[in-house]
Amino acid sequence: MGKIVFATNNAHKLKEIRGIAKGKLEVLSLSDIGSHDEIEENGSTLEENALIKARFIKDKYGYDCFADDTGLEVEALNNAPGIYSARYAGEHCSPQDNVEKLIGEMKGKSNRKARFRTAIALLYAGGQHLFEGEITGRIIEETRGSAGFGYDPLFQPDGYDKTFAELGEELKNKISHRAIAMNKLADFLLSNAK
Ligand code: IMP
Repeated sequence: MGKIVFATNNAHKLKEIRGIAKGKLEVLSLSDIGSHDEIEENGSTLEENALIKARFIKDKYGYDCFADDTGLEVEALNNAPGIYSARYAGEHCSPQDNVEKLIGEMKGKSNRKARFRTAIALLYAGGQHLFEGEITGRIIEETRGSAGFGYDPLFQPDGYDKTFAELGEELKNKISHRAIAMNKLADFLLSNAK
């Protein structure tokens, strides 16, 4: 069975992709290959940041590799926080700080349209590939729900009257930006597995 590195140590993301690749491809985490590198994500797009991470691991460890990067893009804020989603409220801020900052920035704004976007960069068998997933929705005025993480309590996907944090992880993981991108990656890998 072929091996591939997912440039993350996020247990939830690993479980998701290992479930999809089961029996066909062995997915290793950064700690599985002994990487404790701080990879600087200094690209100007999600795609660039995903590629920076994947390229770093491929060059240093030689493994075929993929990496993901996700951002929340809010139309009325010129697509902020985007690549800065993890540190919107400052360098060492908490997810709660980010949520409060977004509530503040959106006060009085009538255009509430937003989308989550995930980019995945894959370096595999000598080739470079990009996969994208997005889900559109709106930013509500006050948080609702307690499941999920990050901006989930403020994001209501189109077609639903609940936020990601109210819908729960099982449903969210079927329809989310990351699920869409991961499924594209999995389809590619499973049909090209060595
Ligand atoms: P990452 O690239 O997956 O680490 O995501 C960067 C940041 O985007 C996270 O720190 C969160 O603030 C936000 N984010 C990513 N995915 C989600 C999601 O599914 N729900 C809510 N926030 C998210």
